[in-house]
Amino acid sequence: MPEQLSPLFYSKKVLIVVALSLISRFVAAQEESPATATPPQGYEFSFPALGTLVSFTAYAADESQVQAAFELAEKRVHELEAVLTDYDPASETRKLSEQAVRRPTRVSADLWRMLVSCDAWYVKTDGAFDASLGKLTRLWRKHRRVKRVPSRAEIESALAQTGWQHVVLDTERQSIELLQEGVQLDFGAIGKGYIADRAFEVLVDSGLSCCLVNLSGNLRCGAAPPGRDGWRIDISPLKKGGRPLRRIVIANQAVATSGDLWQFTLVDGQRRSHILDPSTGLGVVGPIAATALAPSATEADACATAACVMGAEQAIQFVDSIPNLELLVATQVDPESQPLVTSTAGFAK
Ligand code: AMP
Ligand code: MG
Repeated sequence: MPEQLSPLFYSKKVLIVVALSLISRFVAAQEESPATATPPQGYEFSFPALGTLVSFTAYAADESQVQAAFELAEKRVHELEAVLTDYDPASETRKLSEQAVRRPTRVSADLWRMLVSCDAWYVKTDGAFDASLGKLTRLWRKHRRVKRVPSRAEIESALAQTGWQHVVLDTERQSIELLQEGVQLDFGAIGKGYIADRAFEVLVDSGLSCCLVNLSGNLRCGAAPPGRDGWRIDISPLKKGGRPLRRIVIANQAVATSGDLWQFTLVDGQRRSHILDPSTGLGVVGPIAATALAPSATEADACATAACVMGAEQAIQFVDSIPNLELLVATQVDPESQPLVTSTAGFAK
């Protein structure tokens, strides 16, 4: 529960940061407003969830309205975390991986929406996005912790229990059946975006149209802050401590960045991301970072991850074919060279 609304924070772990200057008290609005009206103020609140920091920013005149909205949205985030996380054996997602083996199992409304999105992204990306690879991600996660690489046999065994073709969705009953034992669902590539969207909806429904939700670099923003064109977002560089690749200004949009900046394993001297190619079971070769712009954070999150799997050229072509999606991809051939940055024509014009 937000006890106190705090000034904007900066977290190194957050891939995209909102420019600090945004939150400064809004002078221009004060000048234009009638003497009696309270001018909008900027508020920020952050709290830990999903193993990261979640932050809400909003501009409004009424502090108690903001406080109430932030509380509701925080509650919604925790509620969704309990459903979607694959870290907690008690989550609906984790339990489902056992319950639904060869048995159609009804799911909650949120989990159903998540599954439908995952299904659509699997089809759209020709399998580059595959939320059934929990076995593989856990295998790599376990080995990354002890700086080891899984054996070929371990990867093959996890691959046998991976693949959206093992997932059967029944739209009428809103149920799922897993045709293969051992398949584990993993919403790591899309869940934060989904939760950002739902929290955003709570804020807007509570009257905060000028707000931003940031869930570890998965952002959804509403109307521009008073007197500005939009929210300024810095796109994270390929190297820690490097200069942002670009600064963009957006409103009523979502943005997400994926890449291997924070999580990778060195395999034979090659940087392999925590983002896996479902066709090989291996991490994507880095360094790579993909930033997607979309109407919703769910789409931006899924798209940014899939783009890393596809690689720059194919990903740009793919996104070009989809309305309302834009993409920027940065790669680097060798550590001494400048990053190679390509984007779709409409990226943050
Ligand atoms: P993100 O930070 O949004 O790119 O998500 C990365 C996470 O998504 C990983 O930690 C895995 O849990 C999951 N993941 C990795 N590779 C894929 C993939 N090809 N399709 C779907 N999810 C993936
Ligand atoms: Mg993602």
